[in-house]
Amino acid sequence: MFGARCYRRVVPAMEGLAEEFRMPKAPAPQNPSDARSEDAVRAAIVSAMVDLLRLGLSQGTSGNVSARFGNGFLVTPSGIPAEELRPEDIVAMSWDGGFTHALSPSSEWRFHRDILAARPEFGAVVHAHPTYCTAFAICGREIPAVHYMIAAAGGPTIRCAPYAPYGTEALSKAALVALEGRAGCLLANHGMIAAGSDLRKALWLAVEMEALCRQYAAALQVGAPLILSDDEIRRTVERFRSYGPREAANNAG
Ligand SMILES: [Zn+2]
Repeated sequence: MFGARCYRRVVPAMEGLAEEFRMPKAPAPQNPSDARSEDAVRAAIVSAMVDLLRLGLSQGTSGNVSARFGNGFLVTPSGIPAEELRPEDIVAMSWDGGFTHALSPSSEWRFHRDILAARPEFGAVVHAHPTYCTAFAICGREIPAVHYMIAAAGGPTIRCAPYAPYGTEALSKAALVALEGRAGCLLANHGMIAAGSDLRKALWLAVEMEALCRQYAAALQVGAPLILSDDEIRRTVERFRSYGPREAANNAG
């Protein structure tokens, strides 16, 4: 199917893997992409990467996207700009981090793998360095409930994971902690992560998080932002759960 590039690299990536993630099998796939062909999921990942660029959420070769598929997951390769990316460039990986592809997976494959493995409710993960999310991440600041749309990320705060070098197990662990009970987080001095049951929802959340950070940054210049109560955000999370992100976004007043 992907004859243009040979599959020569096999990486047994078990070493350095945290004990809790050495799972022989991933959680049962639960996302709608199960019903889709591999080609369709590869195309959807490419399209999500192009959207990240188009929406101004990523620059150059930064930003990477993954989606659960079959007995593993599919993730964008390292070092190919979104506008040059082809569906066959997307790297299929197993849960132990192994892959067979001419291209290397994104340097951030580890947190994509660990998030999908630890959180069966997620079918896709988006990572990028959008300006306003990253500005707060540079300051190591979590985002409080300055707007009810923060409920899209699952709770009254968007946490900022402490800094760890890109691609490391330490970064992956920090991200998992920051994502507890949430679908999105910031990564200190780096960027952000948004997850969702499918690619569309993960991308939607990435857009909402950047909008929220932009609004919060503007509000800080205007005056002292008022913070909504945890109870109010809890109720909004419930409403979003009932109606889904598309409806939540469309009906947002
Ligand atoms: Zn990054």
